Amino acid sequence: MLKRILVTGGAGFLGSHLCDRLVREGHDVICLDNFFTSQKGNVDHLLDCHNFELVRHDVVDPFRFEVDEIYNLACPAAPGHYQYNPIKTMKTSVMGAINSLGLAKRVRARILHTSTSEVYGDPDVHPQPESYRGNVNPIGPRACYDEGKRAAETLMFDYHRQHGVRIKVVRIFNTYGPRVHPFDGRVVSNFIRQALAGESITLYGDGSQTRSFCYVDDMIDGLIRMMNASDDFTGPVNLGNPDEFTVLELAKKVVAIAGSKSTVGTGKPLPADDPARRRPDISLAKAKLDWQPKVALDEGLKRTIEWFRSIKLSDYRPPTPNY
Ligand code: NAD
Ligand code: UDP
Repeated sequence: MLKRILVTGGAGFLGSHLCDRLVREGHDVICLDNFFTSQKGNVDHLLDCHNFELVRHDVVDPFRFEVDEIYNLACPAAPGHYQYNPIKTMKTSVMGAINSLGLAKRVRARILHTSTSEVYGDPDVHPQPESYRGNVNPIGPRACYDEGKRAAETLMFDYHRQHGVRIKVVRIFNTYGPRVHPFDGRVVSNFIRQALAGESITLYGDGSQTRSFCYVDDMIDGLIRMMNASDDFTGPVNLGNPDEFTVLELAKKVVAIAGSKSTVGTGKPLPADDPARRRPDISLAKAKLDWQPKVALDEGLKRTIEWFRSIKLSDYRPPTPNY
């Protein structure tokens, strides 16, 4: 069935791929974004489609649309971006969730919220199942994001219990791929940019911290499956690739796949509250959504590196000085 769908943060990395899929499926898509960490270029190719509309708006301020579904993605996601203006980050998460939920309640739309593995903080349970309540520092530099996302999850469940809003909560683990902002300061984009420029790779700490990297196509497939799952499955559900790598292993892979002469150097000390390890337990997504990632890290990096080779870095404005 064709639907009217609002995607907040729709011009961003994940949002633009989601809009691509939804437009291709024939839905009427409204993409709402304030372009803090993205640019119109990500959705340029959709502007001529009759079933796509782009709206510049900040989710901190209320918005009204007649829609059947809402995907709430608006929020800076990279540490350097969300720490640039932490108070705004918290407002975006909390006010953005309240405004999206208020709209969902009024027009009886189903709403999917993109939460994060950061709700687990620096985890002392490994891998992380949805039942784990996390180890988050509420007053550290990552708290604006982690606690903002936790508060948004709370709001989702309170609107569900109090007003019967049909909710879906997804906890996304590190995701990468084409259209990731080349100056987001995150590990995949930094390492690829550095490898292609032949610069030394900036390892923070000794590189023994781990992450599990999911390719964007797998993530979009998971988000759409979750939205389409039955109403009684609210989540939270983890979506991510359970293959775990140290940051040093990632650096070596990027250098090898890019065919680069870069050396893996020491970068900065490990940032405060940087989680030591992170890997999703995806049993719930497998059981409820019949979902698991298909693209292995080597293949995903190959595709992402190809994309980085195809773009002109000068077309991208660094959203913040933190990269
Ligand atoms: P992104 O920065 O590319 O996309 C976020 C989009 O939201 C951008 O287009 C940005 O301009 C927009 N935005 C930010 N603040 C806004 C505001 N106040 N009003 C309107 N628009 C605003 O990041 P992404 O990687 O595509 O992340 C999308 C969502 O997924 C985010 O909510 C993020 O927290 C979540 N997530 C992503 C990852 C990941 O690894 N990519 C991991 C966990 C969670
Ligand atoms: N990191 C790194 N060098 C970089 C950027 C990041 O070693 O140039 C490390 C960072 O300290 C963290 C991991 O890579 O341990 C992932 O960082 P990222 O900012 O991508 O996202 P996070 O998963 O921490 O939110």
